[in-house]
Amino acid sequence: MKTATGSLLVRNGTLIDGTGRLPVPDAVVHSRDGRITYAGPKLGAPALPPDTPTIDARGGTILPGLVEAHFHPTYFDVAALEDLDIKYPVEYVTLLAAANARLALECGYTSARSGGSLFNIDVWLKKAIEADVTDGPRLAASGREICGVGGLMDWNPDFRKIGMEGLVLLINGPVEARAAVRKLVKDGVEWVKTYPTGDAAAPDTNDHHTLCMTFEEMHAVVQTAHNHSMKVTGHCRATEGIKNALKAGYDAVEHATFIDDEGLDLLLARNVPVVPALQFEWASVERGKSYGMSQRVLDGHKETLEGGAESARRILRAGGTLGMGGDYGFAWNPHGDYAKELTFFVEYVGFTPMEVLCCATLSGAKIMGRDKEFGSVEAGKLADLLIVEGDVLANIRLLEDRTRFVAVVQGGIVKAGQVA
Ligand SMILES: [Zn+2]
Repeated sequence: MKTATGSLLVRNGTLIDGTGRLPVPDAVVHSRDGRITYAGPKLGAPALPPDTPTIDARGGTILPGLVEAHFHPTYFDVAALEDLDIKYPVEYVTLLAAANARLALECGYTSARSGGSLFNIDVWLKKAIEADVTDGPRLAASGREICGVGGLMDWNPDFRKIGMEGLVLLINGPVEARAAVRKLVKDGVEWVKTYPTGDAAAPDTNDHHTLCMTFEEMHAVVQTAHNHSMKVTGHCRATEGIKNALKAGYDAVEHATFIDDEGLDLLLARNVPVVPALQFEWASVERGKSYGMSQRVLDGHKETLEGGAESARRILRAGGTLGMGGDYGFAWNPHGDYAKELTFFVEYVGFTPMEVLCCATLSGAKIMGRDKEFGSVEAGKLADLLIVEGDVLANIRLLEDRTRFVAVVQGGIVKAGQVA
């Protein structure tokens, strides 16, 4: 991805740098050739030539670009499981994924980590974004997911005589688990996304307390992935599935919904990050009925929502690492709503706005393994910035309204917002 040439000055805003440090009123941010050279109080900032291109933050808030830590670029208006794979041909889904990536950037998300993709679309989307063919967040790709045969993602009945190969690689046993990871090595993914557990969406055979992979399969995935310098994560709701993932050496856990004391100890021992992705559950409970969800499914989502909120609180209070994001692209939880996750964590889960902003910026960059490059507004890092009218700490909902964005800046280049 190209970075800017020359200098940029951002002035007249309160700086929240993403590290959790106190906000800096009347701050300025200087960048040169796309990298931050100074971020802090205006008083004491080095002088810049008077003709330096300048963004006036209008007394608002200067933040690091946000990180969507569980992004499904290929999900679009998903209202049934089939919509995840066979609703549209892959050519059209690729175009939708590019549009979703552009939208995420306009929503202030300058980086994102895929939580799984149809075919290998996110790998190529990442390449296209890096080559400035299309605009979007700096991406970490997952490609196809891995799930046990008969598990959550194996829903096509055999009589249809179609597999799931566009969306998931279905495995039986450690040998097939290794073979699936080896396919992903060739695809070029960075994160191997697995399905150790079920979900409230499938109450009959794969509910949120069901295991969809064995420990041996998960361990084989980790050994093979780590051998090829890939990381492993998984959809983990059930208590036992979370612990299996942590014992198998997973690098992250998605959801960690029903974590117990032993799971928390395992998590903290290696500081394994978690992306709870909870606003989806709230949206499912609130809007699921009008999309035909049964009472059992709704009850399962409610239990997931409450369990997940409690687990997220425990993990944060114990000093764990949490990323913000998750599962946007469903009909009742569409792309573009990403910042509702942040509001939800303040209003429903009880995090402070500052805690949520740290999760949504520097912690997200840590999860991507790129916190040396971005995630906070500090000298030396890429100038990935979100400049918002108003006081975001006083009203986290401002981040939901992109008409209030003065600028979304990536590598010192204004990509979206009012001044674009
Ligand atoms: Zn997901």
